[in-house]
Amino acid sequence: MKQSSKRVHLRQSQLITTFGPGAMVDLPTRSVIIGGLDLWHMREKGSWHTIQEPRAVSILESVLQENGRLREGVRLSLRSPPVDWGRQPFGEPPGIEAKIFPAWFVTREAADLGGGIRRRRLVRWRDLNPRGGRADFTGEDGKKTPVNPIRFVAGCKKGHIQDIDWTFAVHGAGEKCTEALWLEERGTSGDPRSTRIVCGCGRSLSLHDAQAPGRFGKCRGHRPWLHDQQPEGCTEDLRFLTRTATNTYFPQVLTVISLPAAEDELTRLIEAHLGVLSKAVDAAGIGMAREFNEAVRAALDGYSNEEVFDRVKQLQKAQQQNLEKAPKVAEFELLASGDREIGTNAPDSKLYAVTLDRSEWGGSDPGDSPIASVVAVHRLREVACLYGFTRFEAAPTAIDGDLEELYLAVEGAALASELEWLPAIEQLGEGIFLRFDEAAIKKWLSRDEVRRRVSELHGGYLKWQANL
Ligand SMILES: [Zn+2]
Ligand SMILES: [Zn+2]
Repeated sequence: MKQSSKRVHLRQSQLITTFGPGAMVDLPTRSVIIGGLDLWHMREKGSWHTIQEPRAVSILESVLQENGRLREGVRLSLRSPPVDWGRQPFGEPPGIEAKIFPAWFVTREAADLGGGIRRRRLVRWRDLNPRGGRADFTGEDGKKTPVNPIRFVAGCKKGHIQDIDWTFAVHGAGEKCTEALWLEERGTSGDPRSTRIVCGCGRSLSLHDAQAPGRFGKCRGHRPWLHDQQPEGCTEDLRFLTRTATNTYFPQVLTVISLPAAEDELTRLIEAHLGVLSKAVDAAGIGMAREFNEAVRAALDGYSNEEVFDRVKQLQKAQQQNLEKAPKVAEFELLASGDREIGTNAPDSKLYAVTLDRSEWGGSDPGDSPIASVVAVHRLREVACLYGFTRFEAAPTAIDGDLEELYLAVEGAALASELEWLPAIEQLGEGIFLRFDEAAIKKWLSRDEVRRRVSELHGGYLKWQANL
């Protein structure tokens, strides 16, 4: 069910946020599920590029390996999603394969049975007319009717998803009925009790019953975006899922700000080729890299192998120190350092910021302001990297958390059968960093009105949690 003839254009950032592998996209006559990384066609030269962000790579490698989602010893890399520049007139252009999902459809025209009851035929992909791109179905009366993909599927919170076997769901185990199935609606309330899947033999199942916990048993670990099933199975309950609801896909994204290691020209040059250079175990290894890689040779012209090797080691050490801190803490510490200049003011620098003097932002009286410092960030590079997803509820994100939260967030679905790289985007920007005065915040938190409000909000949260 490969969909090679129709192409849909998505923005690169959409592939990292809403429409990554395993997400469903609603098209006019069908719904598709975005393929895993194995189905991202990017063989054409120039259709993608490597994104260098050693800190993000190291964080993800250690966390994903620890959780068994990345094979031991695999060095991850980050890649931009493929772009079709339209340069390939023949053959498969760069792009991402998507699979038809779900494979059940409902006819658009309803038969009116009177008494406010309407019936639509339930059909499978294979029952649709191959001519015209399987967009319609010919009924027993010979009349053609267009179809829509069914809104209901089943999945688990680890991201697995599958079609509901409607024949089985209506009849139960052991009954082999071949009569036609219908989606029957009474009235217009949309109440799950008044929507039923009805079989020609008279058996039926209401959506209300289909939604009952445990109705579909245990999850079978289906991963249609990878064309397979989770090898070790799944322990979660299979749950009813409305395909168009907002809880069908929660991407897991690590976002980091590139920290400047770039103190001088050589460091910047090395950073640009760190992927190749960090493999060297001694100065001779640097020589080899120069010999075999033209770009490296050109970049390092004028520097000795020893000089380059020493700097590579220094850089790796600095990165390791950054790694030992939680991702957001390292970024905060840098911007809150109070240093007048942070990073380098150069066209290829990834971060350049200036801590403003109080007089520059009007913070005349330190005792008066809850703001401790203001930093004008003139240049900033942010890398966002998709590393998994969940359904039904979002796993805790790493965005505002520390490393501990990132550990929790890895309970999610795999993006590839054998992970080697992750899709990422880089965004350049600028902005203002405000550091608040901790003492001023504590003072504000201790006010009676604030404490009352916090306790109200906390009470609401506990109620919500009790209902989960
Ligand atoms: Zn039946
Ligand atoms: Zn599952």
